[in-house]
Amino acid sequence: MAAKTTSDPTVRPAPHPTDLTAAFWAATTEGRFLIQRCTRCNAAIFYPRVNCTECGSTELVDEDASGRGTVYTFTVARRPTHRAWAETGPYVIAIVELAEGPHVTTNIVECDPDDVRIGMPVEVCFAPEADGVALPLFRPTG
Ligand SMILES: [Zn+2]
Repeated sequence: MAAKTTSDPTVRPAPHPTDLTAAFWAATTEGRFLIQRCTRCNAAIFYPRVNCTECGSTELVDEDASGRGTVYTFTVARRPTHRAWAETGPYVIAIVELAEGPHVTTNIVECDPDDVRIGMPVEVCFAPEADGVALPLFRPTG
């Protein structure tokens, strides 16, 4: 069987780290979720950017997030949204509000999709991908 490539429509699209996102993706392989912190105004920022979203400063430093948050909103995909998910049952596409404030688009895993609720406490977990990154997903806490 030939190796699957990222151009194979049955393979889940993987992130492609850039200079700006390389530190974030490297941290995911260590089970760490990085956000940025503005050293001028203290804003917490996700996803990795050049400028602070609040004050425009370029003085941003990486910081380990708590990995905890709550479900801000979600939907249950009952039909696959991509061929790579054709064999995946209903799954939850969500926006999680991190304890630090930023929102993260992700999946809620390790629970029945029908049990997900807005405001539900969740924590990050990581799904290793073939290309040397791990996808940050969230699961219910406790
Ligand atoms: Zn700032």
